[in-house]
Amino acid sequence: MPPSVAKRRTIIEPFKIKVVEPIRMTTREERIGYLERCGYNVFSLPADEVLIDFLTDSGTSAMSAEQWAAVMRGDESYAGSRSYYRFRDTVKSIFGLRHIIPTHQGRAAERILFSTVCRTGDVVPNNTHFDTTRANIEATGARAVDLPIPEGLVPSHRHPFKGNMDVERLGALIEEEGADRIPLVMLTVTNNTGGGQPVSMENIRAVAEVCRAHEIPLYIDACRFAENAYFIKLREDGYDDVPVREIVREMFSHADGCTMSAKKDGLSNIGGFLATNDEALAERERDLLILTEGFPTYGGLAGRDLEATAVGLEEVLEEDYLEYRLASVRYLGEHISSYGVPIMQPPGGHAIYIDAQAFLPHLTPLDLPGQALVAELFVEGGVRSVEIGTVMFGHRDPDSGEEIAASMELVRLAIPRRVYTQSHVDYVVEVIRAVWERRASIGGFRFTFQAPALRHFTARFEPLYPFSQEGGE
Ligand SMILES: *Cc1c(COP(=O)(O)O)cnc(C)c1O
Repeated sequence: MPPSVAKRRTIIEPFKIKVVEPIRMTTREERIGYLERCGYNVFSLPADEVLIDFLTDSGTSAMSAEQWAAVMRGDESYAGSRSYYRFRDTVKSIFGLRHIIPTHQGRAAERILFSTVCRTGDVVPNNTHFDTTRANIEATGARAVDLPIPEGLVPSHRHPFKGNMDVERLGALIEEEGADRIPLVMLTVTNNTGGGQPVSMENIRAVAEVCRAHEIPLYIDACRFAENAYFIKLREDGYDDVPVREIVREMFSHADGCTMSAKKDGLSNIGGFLATNDEALAERERDLLILTEGFPTYGGLAGRDLEATAVGLEEVLEEDYLEYRLASVRYLGEHISSYGVPIMQPPGGHAIYIDAQAFLPHLTPLDLPGQALVAELFVEGGVRSVEIGTVMFGHRDPDSGEEIAASMELVRLAIPRRVYTQSHVDYVVEVIRAVWERRASIGGFRFTFQAPALRHFTARFEPLYPFSQEGGE
């Protein structure tokens, strides 16, 4: 190979920057003040007080010049907008599904799907339900059941497709409940748990076979379909020469429908869709769409949003982009774990999860180690992350008032698409390392306020010990 085309060690961002958004620099003292003011809950921080925002990868993508150009082409006609046809044809050509229903985001697609197909007492299996998916299933009186493979539940276990569904347990569940109680089976790609762990083509195929045998439709929660397809290309036998677009077509050839949040792999700031091959079902879903979202050719979105998503869905399949995307997440994970920071292995497609309980072993789960780590990362370097542990998934027993811990204490660093450069990630590595080096001095937190449901969004806390004493600028 001539040197000019030899593989370089450094994977660069496959874009240059046309529009910039300033980051306001802050001092450690300022950040301590910001945290105190909002009861140490980073959800309450104005985003202007954050230096690097790793709260979520949802709706936070940077749009491309082509997407902004498409925004200007948006046709805002109420019915039959040109932008709708462009959106519909793009989705059809990528996913190969027949009926495409635009929605304002993923959960709207979920609500329309599940309220159309689920009855009280039904069961919906998934590798792991995303929280809005579970909530929309449960709102219909049905039960959401998670069937991850056992390896998926062990943070340190390196399995190439940790997002897979346990096919044997799926078979057993169908036997137990009866196929007529299961309106559909769902596979979430990538599986959000563990930072976006992929599902293999082999697993999609095996799950689809079980579904076919019992005449149960298979749906894919497609939010990170492109990241999943690139993991298949990198890790699954027989796919290294297959273009990602073909891998996506094969993945969805096994499905009868999908739900999608364009705020993830749509590279958009808003939008989503529901797709199905079932014409009669699509008609009922459109009736509900009109009732709550809008006319079927815009589904609660502006024409310009449909345009931006149509372009984003094409751009997300570019392999230079996907190589950079997965490499940048892996870069963060591998660097911090090389210093000893315990993370969920291997790094996923959109986020790194730090095991806060292993990071702060001197704290008990009820000392809220994830919350303590989130607060320290913010004070140390203005990095906003999110606790996924007892604050989010624990609860207070309504009878005894006793606090019940979650099963794991994690902190998620979710990486927005095309937003931060390698030097931003290097900075975050440095911040995490500084907190890691003074971990023995980090104390816990307790609640001073919590709402009865979804408490993590509005809770307030206080430190159990004088907060963040060591370190410095
Ligand atoms: C974000 C997400 C959803 C919900 O989409 P919204 O656009 O936030 O409503 C559903 N499933 C998964 C896996 C997601 O990541």
